[in-house]
Amino acid sequence: MAIFNLQERVAFITGGNGGIGLGMAKGLAAAGASVVVAGRNKTKAQSALSELRSLGGEAEFVELDVLQESSCHQAVQRAVELFGRLDILVNNAGTTVRKQPQDLTAKDWHLVLDTNLTSAFYCSQAAYPHMVRAGGGKIINIGSMMSVFASSYATPYAASKGGIVQLAKSLAVAWAKDNIQVNAILPGWIDTELTRNAREQVQGLHERVLARTPAQRWGNPDDFAGIAVFLAAPASNFITGAAIAVDGGYSVQT
Ligand code: NDP
Repeated sequence: MAIFNLQERVAFITGGNGGIGLGMAKGLAAAGASVVVAGRNKTKAQSALSELRSLGGEAEFVELDVLQESSCHQAVQRAVELFGRLDILVNNAGTTVRKQPQDLTAKDWHLVLDTNLTSAFYCSQAAYPHMVRAGGGKIINIGSMMSVFASSYATPYAASKGGIVQLAKSLAVAWAKDNIQVNAILPGWIDTELTRNAREQVQGLHERVLARTPAQRWGNPDDFAGIAVFLAAPASNFITGAAIAVDGGYSVQT
């Protein structure tokens, strides 16, 4: 269907080499986009590229450390050199430090805020002129249930994920005139490397998530293929500044 067609479109996904990022990359590739997965881990990236190319599209890896502003700008530039344009940016790279707030160091705080929030600003700024040149674009920020709820062991994470939704709304307002739509996805609890560690560190987490999720399961990265295509495609051209939960009903359960 034309409204979901991403042929001739180029997507850049931070942390697209695994987890939720790769789930979204697979959706975009299946809809026809050329995909640039950007991250640090080359081994993960090679396996991601094989999966993406098997879907029939073009895919490349670009090295990126989102903690460095210069790396964000260089990686976006490299993507444009590889494919000639940039239409879709997914700000997905993320990390966390699990400690009570009184035990956090300034280094912990900056690691999480810089990885999860500041990087999205750097990459969006880097992508902007290319999207303007292309006549428009789509930016998708990855939030969290902690964009809405709080947790005593995830203070910087919750602050960053609240911030990334406000960043999406602000960019949406600023860049609507350029035909750039900016939205956020709020994942529920998804089975990835990030949460595998959490399940080991936080006793009872697995069962609590299952009990609270009406869909009665953890999500998996493939659950993000559809929403990524929707927010990257012409189908969502009049949707901007929205934050959409993909959580099996977690956020509407009392
Ligand atoms: P993963 O750990 O699988 O993915 C995190 C990704 O971020 C990795 O691909 C990693 O790439 C990348 N990344 C981290 N730091 C950097 C850095 N400095 N430079 C470049 N890339 C970096 O976890 P998820 O797939 O679960 O997480 C993806 C996003 O989804 C995150 O923003 C996370 O907060 C969010 N999320 C996840 C939820 C879940 O339940 N899993 C729930 C809500 C939100 P590399 O390996 O190359 O370092």
